[in-house]
Amino acid sequence: MKIEKAKVTGNKATIVFSDVEPFMINAFRRALITDTPKMAIDNIEIHLGAISDENGRTYESTTPLFDEIIAHRLSMIPVPTDTDALLRGDLRYKGECTCDGGCNNCQIMYSLNRRGPCTVYSKDLDPLGDDKLRPQDPNIPIVKLTEDEGILIYATAHMGTGKTHARWQAVHAAGYRPIPEITIHQDKVKDPERIAGNCPRDVFEVSKKTLKVVNPEACVICRTCEHEDLGGIGAVTVNAETDRYLFRFETDGSLDPKTAALFALDKLGERFAELIKDIEELK
Ligand SMILES: [Zn+2]
Repeated sequence: MKIEKAKVTGNKATIVFSDVEPFMINAFRRALITDTPKMAIDNIEIHLGAISDENGRTYESTTPLFDEIIAHRLSMIPVPTDTDALLRGDLRYKGECTCDGGCNNCQIMYSLNRRGPCTVYSKDLDPLGDDKLRPQDPNIPIVKLTEDEGILIYATAHMGTGKTHARWQAVHAAGYRPIPEITIHQDKVKDPERIAGNCPRDVFEVSKKTLKVVNPEACVICRTCEHEDLGGIGAVTVNAETDRYLFRFETDGSLDPKTAALFALDKLGERFAELIKDIEELK
């Protein structure tokens, strides 16, 4: 299993794997989705009763939404995970930390204090401590408050993985497809412009009246180029039996794609090491 090409743009990653079987790449996909750790809000305290502002005006601590819906929305907001601390092994899962009741290694605390009329967004979550722990996406709406309504919440984020709940799923839209072998039989090509022009994915290019494959990763194996009436019988053949795959995934912003991939591969290695140990112990 080799990486031929890799491109990371923001939260998105595109990798071309070669010398790979589908089951291997699928194991990587599953590990990315379920085994990548991240922080997410899983505990909130909602202030009940009147909320006063600095001028002494009071607001009702009510919103048009049920508390459960607000709790769910807060839990799904991607909060940053300190990747340096994660890679150093300093971040710990809830229940695995040796502290008493929570510390910087196992939790992040936020406060949310807004008064209507306004729309409350993810940017209103104030981290208690380092400001770099503010949610990366500022404009995720949480609730709309009308006149005299207010909200005061203390929220705590802990580390987890997507195996437990979607709130801890850092990687999304992970998928792969084969990159076919596209062969051009130049002696049979009658109309190169027509073959190139009919490809819906711009896989081909015509240079000096010669048809060339310039973008095989874009091919979705529609086989339009193989149609006999297009530019010559048997001019192009597309072979989908391949060991090259295009793999794409993106993160929700809580982790960068490289860190997510490192953790997924690390977890896979750990699982197989356990399996080897179990087999060695067989009598
Ligand atoms: Zn702790």
